[in-house]
Amino acid sequence: MAGPLLLRSLLSASTLKSFSSHLAPLPRFSRCFSSGPASAAAAATTYPSAYLDPGRLRNVAVIAHVDHGKTTLMDRLLRQCGADIPHERAMDSISLERERGITIASKVTSVSWKENELNMVDTPGHADFGGEVERVVGMVEGAVLVVDAGEGPLAQTKFVLAKALKYGLRPLLLLNKVDRPSVSEERCNEVESLVFDLFANLGATEEQLDFPVLYASAKEGWASSTFTKDPPAGAKNMSQLLDAIVRHVPPPKANLDGPFQMLVSMMEKDFYLGRILTGRVSSGIVRVGDKIHGLRSSESGIEKIEEGKVVKLMKKKGTSMVLIDSAGAGDIISMAGLGSPSIGHTVANTEVCFYLVIKLSACVDFSSFSVN
Ligand code: GDP
Repeated sequence: MAGPLLLRSLLSASTLKSFSSHLAPLPRFSRCFSSGPASAAAAATTYPSAYLDPGRLRNVAVIAHVDHGKTTLMDRLLRQCGADIPHERAMDSISLERERGITIASKVTSVSWKENELNMVDTPGHADFGGEVERVVGMVEGAVLVVDAGEGPLAQTKFVLAKALKYGLRPLLLLNKVDRPSVSEERCNEVESLVFDLFANLGATEEQLDFPVLYASAKEGWASSTFTKDPPAGAKNMSQLLDAIVRHVPPPKANLDGPFQMLVSMMEKDFYLGRILTGRVSSGIVRVGDKIHGLRSSESGIEKIEEGKVVKLMKKKGTSMVLIDSAGAGDIISMAGLGSPSIGHTVANTEVCFYLVIKLSACVDFSSFSVN
């Protein structure tokens, strides 16, 4: 009974309001989170999470062949959703920072859109990152496939697409670069058919084949649900894409009342905070200070590898990491507190250990993840 009560209190109107209006960025974490001193992170304000209602979450992978415009598109989405981007392009600034070794490697960025929180997850371009692709598509319910309307779909994205379809993701097709003189409506129809055939050959279901198509010029900063090369001034933005994601991608099926569990999908190391574990909360609610433990599967069953507590909970909003005070099932978050768990392990609440062990063995398929 504690679950619903807790949820109600966490979802109070003031909580919701204060989170959406007061998000403040943390100092940038480095690739290994070492550029920001621990004291700076500790001094930053922590915000209550408004996104404990899974109905308002959308988890989406972004898939594109190199140069088809993923970086430009993400930049436009982040800007429209209020990210404070100092440089010409958000991802360019990240690349620059990366060269200097002072940006996080997190592939998840969330944007707020009309009372919803969209967690956008970058996907690696090709099969060399097979394990990473599985982990990414395992965290989301939908995928935006960005295709250069001039070039059409290229082989490099096939592997990622095949995985995405196999995991049941709902795809959206974004035909990019329609501003180019060579891209006509006929060409867009051709590319749409090519993508349809590709999906069908990769075993897409009827539901997946019923994908919405958007036409975009990420460079000019707009997306449209009907073909155009010059949308009216008031529609030269990304609203139609963001609306399409909210409409077409189902919210995560999530049990907030269950014990807290998170499958670790990404891991980074920070000089001050130790391991930063990123993953999707598969059930329950987690708060800063909660006692947790890391679990992994072994031949003899589920084994506890470490016990500790949640020191920090974080989400990347736009191009900055922000601290949050709690997170619920269906959301994709990062946490610090445990030093041993790694990719493929589970982090869970210690108070529900017995129940959890039974549930975990019944519901988590560890076999598809590497255990270190
Ligand atoms: P990524 O490799 O998929 O991240 O692609 P980028 O976003 O870096 O874009 C690759 C190139 O295509 C850059 O030169 C962009 O300026 C250009 N580009 C991206 N989107 C568009 C678009 O909508 N129209 C045109 N004409 N060029 C674009």
